[in-house]
Amino acid sequence: MRTEKSEALFQEAQAYIPGGVSSPVRAFKAVGGTPRYFVRGQGSRVWDADGNAYIDYVGSWGPLILGHAHPAVVERVTQVAQEGLTYGAPHPLEIELAKLVRAAYPMAELVRFVNSGTEATMSALRLARGYTGRPYIVKFRGNYHGHADGLLVEAGSGALTLGRPSSAGVPEEYARLTLVAEYNDPEGLAALFQRYGEEIAAVIFEPVVGNSGVLEPTPEFLEALRDLTQTHGALLIADEVMTGFRLAFGGATERYGLEPDLITLGKILGGGLPAAAYAGRREIMAQVAPLGPVYQAGTLSGNPLAMAAGVATLEILRTHPEYYQQLEALGAELERGLNEVLHATGTPGTVNRVGSMITVFFCEGPVRRYQDAVRTDVEVFKRFFHGLLKRGVYWPPSAFEAAFLSVAHTPEDLEKTLEAARAALA
Ligand code: PMP
Repeated sequence: MRTEKSEALFQEAQAYIPGGVSSPVRAFKAVGGTPRYFVRGQGSRVWDADGNAYIDYVGSWGPLILGHAHPAVVERVTQVAQEGLTYGAPHPLEIELAKLVRAAYPMAELVRFVNSGTEATMSALRLARGYTGRPYIVKFRGNYHGHADGLLVEAGSGALTLGRPSSAGVPEEYARLTLVAEYNDPEGLAALFQRYGEEIAAVIFEPVVGNSGVLEPTPEFLEALRDLTQTHGALLIADEVMTGFRLAFGGATERYGLEPDLITLGKILGGGLPAAAYAGRREIMAQVAPLGPVYQAGTLSGNPLAMAAGVATLEILRTHPEYYQQLEALGAELERGLNEVLHATGTPGTVNRVGSMITVFFCEGPVRRYQDAVRTDVEVFKRFFHGLLKRGVYWPPSAFEAAFLSVAHTPEDLEKTLEAARAALA
């Protein structure tokens, strides 16, 4: 496989852009080697600058559930673009998209559009603090909610540690307002509420974790989340940026029958363009400016192009419920095949999957929490990743990410992928 053009572009980029990339994981630091410059995508395939084709399991990190360049999405965006790019004024498509969000999430009585998942979670937390008048938030170790200061926090040792920043530039004074608990640990969460209960504004969580690799929540954990927040008057925020419209049309909320007070959405919501949102009951959302005292704004928020891509994508998903069965079947097939490859090659591993999100952990299972996930053998992952890459399969370039299926993936794609996986691990 020739990669001269990607190599040259990556070299040049580093003279102008930190690490050559606009988002860190893209630099291949965790796996080594040269990141590919993709210049075209169609369906389940992407092509790099050197002309190599790959079956894509990144899907722009989640948005592309319909595959690359879906004709209906491209057409809608093109048509809207020809009329004007942005006005900084309300646009009819915002109403269309808000209606689709409410159709998927009945609790989303009011929806505020922003440009990224980071903005959505940051704003939802401000709203929760404004609404409750309380200072603390709770997050779970290994969950990722974007790069807002208060969310770039992980625990020190022990489940009840006060938050410490996981990035330079985040003041400890601020990080201290973020309490960190273990995922799938109801007792730990209960202990945290025992101690800080009446000062906790909100608990934010990934309803299925994608950002430590895929971890599924236990029913007891989901129950504890709802009970403890309700008992103590804190808001429950389901961060559905990754899972929204993916695990069902109504995301994890529909799939698990959750009752969050607020949700955050992104990725699929924007159909491949930058759009995200936070949403919830009218009574809470009415605290947001201009209705209420919680300020939040955006020059390009609700911009017509992103709204068009989102509307086109969600309309297709809403009218094709069978797509979710198709994704489930594809996912099950990939899971089965990967387990078979692990077995056949004598590679210790655990495949975690929920719907169309899947991760191979290269360690014995079960993998239920962050501390299980970090046992994965990253050296084996590197071999897996590069073995796939050179055989034309683009897997997420980090051991702690979810791979995504789209409705454009075919059984033949999976077959080719599994063949490549077998060769990679042989
Ligand atoms: N929340 C979750 C659950 C995410 O997976 C991500 C991004 N992967 C974010 C928030 C942040 O979204 P963005 O990258 O659009 O800021």
